[in-house]
Amino acid sequence: MVSWEDISARLKEISLLEKTLALLSWDQETYMPPSGARVRSEEISLVVRLWHERICDPVWDEILNSFVSRDDLSTDQKRILEIFKRDRDKEVKIPVDLATALATAVSEAFQAWHEAKKASDFSLFLPALDKVFQLSLVKAAALGYERQRAYDAFLDLHEEGLTEEVFDPIAHETLGIMQRVREAIQEKGTPPAKDFLRQVYPREKQKSLCEWLLPCLGFDTQRGRLDTSPHPFSTTLARDDVRLTTRYDEHDPFVALYGVLHEAGHGLYEQGFLSEWEHTPLAQAVSLGIHESQSRFWENQIGRSLEFLEWIWPTMQHIFSPLLDGWTPQKIFHAVNEVKPSLIRTEADEVTYGLHILVRYEIEKKLFHGEIGLGDAPEVWNSLYHQYLGITPPDEARGILQDIHWSHGSFGYFPTYLLGNLYAAQWYATMQKTLDISSLVKKGEFGPLLQWMRENIHYHGRRYEAEVLVKRISGEPLRPRFFAQYLKGRYEAVYGISLSLS
Ligand code: ZN
Repeated sequence: MVSWEDISARLKEISLLEKTLALLSWDQETYMPPSGARVRSEEISLVVRLWHERICDPVWDEILNSFVSRDDLSTDQKRILEIFKRDRDKEVKIPVDLATALATAVSEAFQAWHEAKKASDFSLFLPALDKVFQLSLVKAAALGYERQRAYDAFLDLHEEGLTEEVFDPIAHETLGIMQRVREAIQEKGTPPAKDFLRQVYPREKQKSLCEWLLPCLGFDTQRGRLDTSPHPFSTTLARDDVRLTTRYDEHDPFVALYGVLHEAGHGLYEQGFLSEWEHTPLAQAVSLGIHESQSRFWENQIGRSLEFLEWIWPTMQHIFSPLLDGWTPQKIFHAVNEVKPSLIRTEADEVTYGLHILVRYEIEKKLFHGEIGLGDAPEVWNSLYHQYLGITPPDEARGILQDIHWSHGSFGYFPTYLLGNLYAAQWYATMQKTLDISSLVKKGEFGPLLQWMRENIHYHGRRYEAEVLVKRISGEPLRPRFFAQYLKGRYEAVYGISLSLS
């Protein structure tokens, strides 16, 4: 019988290889000179191969077939093995030939996507994308799914347990909510003044604001750091080494500020796992949707509130003096919460953001159902944008070619972003029952909010699945009405209009 010491040493090796991959990718996105790319991709392939070999090691078959009945293992140790078995099964089910073919197809598709986007011509992307899509269907079959729902296999890959059947009613209800808010604001709302954007906010000053903010939120800067990258992201090199990035726009200090709040939300989650479970699934995030709920909570529920702006205002005025003279937290509150349908998902406000997601979800569903072919996708894209957001993309670069995800074969990924918004609103409503969030935020006392997240979410790692976690915390399953309630409170205050959402 394999001892727990041996099992945990094996789990640790797998985790160390994952963290090494994270380091190689982090460096690639931040500091690596372009000429480093060739060897970097070889390094990454090597580490992926070692990781795959460790995971597929036959010794695991013995361990994973017998752990349930062992009485020398604790409940937590058994839970760790149960989660690991589920992850491993997915990895083992994909034949090596298929994985290699997909990796090649993806790297070709990535190049093709790049060129197609530059030329704003989807037809240049189509053949390579088709190859990725066909191989993805084979992958779905290898992973297995029920009732001919191949798309479910992909939804589950990104959000464990998610299926069309689960997501459809959520998508339907959320679509109605978002469209009603968007229409009401477009009809009755006054656009905010934004002439503070005409000035230049020196990058160094923006950076010092962000670096001052992180510890205020509870992000431990001894166990993490902030860097710059064109597309902000966060990654974990270790529980005690969490990397965040942001980008700076010289004319708009709020781009970096909200970028940092978002990534800090991810980072606080990663710093909040218990050290005793390091290198096991009990020190991992539940799912992408739950991860995104952490970033959205700090960025939107907290960071875009009037109370937060009132708290941070004196510091911003001091750092950027005299650029913000004449502006008030109330005016900025309006400006940073502007709702306006736009073409690009990553630039969308929190009301219309989900509409961008649902366009992609509908298209992916139709593709996997065989209702449309990839060649029909641009037309469906444009008509859904018209239907959901009331706008039509002027070209494919700003339409169907804007996202990198499909070139990666990451079908089924988009819904996790929307789930993040919904979970964040449900956490907010639940937290509100025991904490006076507004008055804490107004004083910059974020500790109790973070402690609530730690105790309810972070400390558990993957002990509970998302579905179980949300019921434990809020007493009910994920409900879009919490999002509706949050949007109503926020946007009635921002626009001074009344919203009826029931
Ligand atoms: Zn995020």
